[in-house]
Amino acid sequence: MSMKIAEGKLDIPAAAGYLKLPEERLENLTQRRLLVPNKGRYQQLFHFETSVSGIERGSVLYQKENGEFELIHGFPKIRRAMLLEPAIRKQFINTKTLCVEEKMNGYNVRVILFQERLIALTRGGNVCPYSTEKANLLLNIDFFRDNPDYVLHGEMIGPENPYVPKEIYGIESLAFFVFDIREKNTGEPVSISRRRQLAEEYGFLEAPLLGNYKLEESAEAIFKHIQELGKIGHEGVVIKDPEMIVSPIKYTCSQSNCSDLLHAFKFYNDVGRDYLFSRVVREGFQSAEWSESENERSERCLRLGESILVPMIETVKKVRKNERVIDEVRIRVQDLETLKEFEDYSRLLGLEAIFSEPEKVGDEYLIHIHKINRSTSDKTEAMWNGDLW
Ligand code: ATP
Ligand code: MG
Repeated sequence: MSMKIAEGKLDIPAAAGYLKLPEERLENLTQRRLLVPNKGRYQQLFHFETSVSGIERGSVLYQKENGEFELIHGFPKIRRAMLLEPAIRKQFINTKTLCVEEKMNGYNVRVILFQERLIALTRGGNVCPYSTEKANLLLNIDFFRDNPDYVLHGEMIGPENPYVPKEIYGIESLAFFVFDIREKNTGEPVSISRRRQLAEEYGFLEAPLLGNYKLEESAEAIFKHIQELGKIGHEGVVIKDPEMIVSPIKYTCSQSNCSDLLHAFKFYNDVGRDYLFSRVVREGFQSAEWSESENERSERCLRLGESILVPMIETVKKVRKNERVIDEVRIRVQDLETLKEFEDYSRLLGLEAIFSEPEKVGDEYLIHIHKINRSTSDKTEAMWNGDLW
């Protein structure tokens, strides 16, 4: 007998009233599964798979016990500067001082209190069971009890990370770094000083502040930060208006672009072409803006070329030896129920992965996950069998 996991049902007239959208519109979104309920435990949460007049993709809607609705806006896109100096001048035309923060390289989560427990929402608006366990472990719940109208935004970083594992931060497992606090329903951010004050009060880790700079001096200062961050393998910066009225912009280090490519080209047929192409284009713009010496330019060319070709060559050779192309990640859980939920969740998202038997380490469990990149393996194998591209 197959068990169907319960799925939430939205009170459409009430939700339409709250969102100020026509009922037919919501009805239609639900039917086309663009407004999707969670299953099982979080079935009262609905997420938007598309943006709808002012509601970003990834936004989450739910009805509280008292019948009131709440909307957790999706995290707004941070646009990228390709040329630092002109982009800053144009974006921050009326901002006197800029706040430059480190861009942490992990994955974005939004944390809220839901039924007396913290839950972690991914960019797409799903409740990630692994991030949820970690959020409850890492974050002071008092913040959410004292500030029920706020959503905590941050980056989950570290090596025990199923999405973007990184060793570079000296973190043992996974840590949560706050970079934004926003209001529920409106999505309005608090100022950076208010955010820092709250983060300090509740003992949260924060994305490092690299400096506050006068608009005219900022491009030069950021250039220096980018050089230093690049050397230690960190990702880049996010440039912000201290009042958070103007939207932030981001800018990244060459080494980080290349390390993305190094990883992605291993799975050349599974990764989207835009992902690869955009990283190559960034290198061209950066080199041009920084008027590099011939030597520096050659170094960049070598770095970029190696990060594209070396992983591909290895992949092609690997398949020749009948090995599959896999992406290895690991997670650490306290509760085996979290592992089970995370496996179900991965399957639901269509991820093909093999989970190892949990290995007991202290009072926790370590699990190795092999993500299968079928398309790259199959394509490469076909080439070895003489097929044509
Ligand atoms: P986006 O749609 O925002 O461009 P993306 O998936 O392309 O997202 P990134 O290129 O990694 O993501 O850049 C934006 C992300 O950077 C944010 O969504 C956030 O998760 C992350 N981030 C890391 N550090 C910071 C920071 N200090 N301030 C803001 N965002 C940060
Ligand atoms: Mg990122």
